[in-house]
Amino acid sequence: MLNLISEILLATILSAIVAIGILAILIWIKNRTIKMSILRLFIQIVAAIAIFAALLNWPISFSPTLEGVTALIAERLTAVLILLVALTAVFGRFFCGWICPYALYMDLLTRLRKILRIRYLNLPDKLNDALNTLRYAIIGFILVMVLVVGYLSPDLWRFVIMFMGPFKPLIMVFLLPLEPVITPIGQALGFSGWGESFTLLSATVNWFNTPLIISLTWFVFITFTAAAFLVRLLWCRFCPVGITSAILNRLSFFKWLPLLQINKVEEKCTKCGICKRVCPVQVNTVYEEKGGNVTSSMCLACYRCVEMCPYSECLKITFLGKTIYKSKNWLEPAFE
Ligand code: SF4
Ligand code: SF4
Ligand code: SF4
Repeated sequence: MLNLISEILLATILSAIVAIGILAILIWIKNRTIKMSILRLFIQIVAAIAIFAALLNWPISFSPTLEGVTALIAERLTAVLILLVALTAVFGRFFCGWICPYALYMDLLTRLRKILRIRYLNLPDKLNDALNTLRYAIIGFILVMVLVVGYLSPDLWRFVIMFMGPFKPLIMVFLLPLEPVITPIGQALGFSGWGESFTLLSATVNWFNTPLIISLTWFVFITFTAAAFLVRLLWCRFCPVGITSAILNRLSFFKWLPLLQINKVEEKCTKCGICKRVCPVQVNTVYEEKGGNVTSSMCLACYRCVEMCPYSECLKITFLGKTIYKSKNWLEPAFE
């Protein structure tokens, strides 16, 4: 009972700190072209910390055998996947734009590139579309690995773990070395499972670590990091998470989804092209579509286009048909 009360208290204090942070950004940042981006960065950082804390505190009964690790990964992967599919279907790719820690990593690379004043590379539209289609092949491959091969022969889970891809070095570099710091803090705060979870995490990422696999993993990670430094959010262009909304959008019964949409008022659009230029994944629909709902399955819901559209009420973010944010005339603030 005491544990529950202390966890509720802790959650309340953390939520209050986050709410104050959000309010401070909304009130004190006057520049309209960065206000939402700063808010998004803040929420991404808070979400990344919360996700790692939640994963570490997930109750476990870990047995250091292949079967033990296999069962745990299957359980956690399945829960995360179901949550992601449901969230994406209902809200669009809000998870991608505001929560995904890997997008945060790539956004930080983009910020570093801007500081170094290096210009980004745009992919040719055809290549961008091809990467978009590649998502279907990747999800098919993952489903076969996880649902068929993994369950038929638990031994083959090693290969699934190997395909943690860029996430594996991220965990190895950023999370595992923090164990001596995080575990005592977690335990002091009442999160007793953190020590065991670190054991599980290191057992998982270090599984099947032959020199060849380690070299391959680092090769993939460094290549992706370098590529994402030059091409904005490169991984997101073929990451399969967005295909739930792509599939649902094709079915007329689900046309009302996602609940969060970008709407455009055609009469107010001057075809200035800013929305197309600032889109980090080169989505063209906001620029090209005439009006109405211009959300596409490639859209990460970052809302940079709405923030940067220089014509008042030309682009709007709507939730259940109600406008929750709209573009402002930042070119001529005196007339607002
Ligand atoms: S597309 Fe994939 S990597 Fe990109 S933000 Fe979404 S889940 Fe994360
Ligand atoms: S930024 Fe706004 S006005 Fe410019 S092309 Fe896009 S929607 Fe039209
Ligand atoms: S279309 Fe707009 S909201 Fe969607 S990813 Fe591009 S900039 Fe972000």
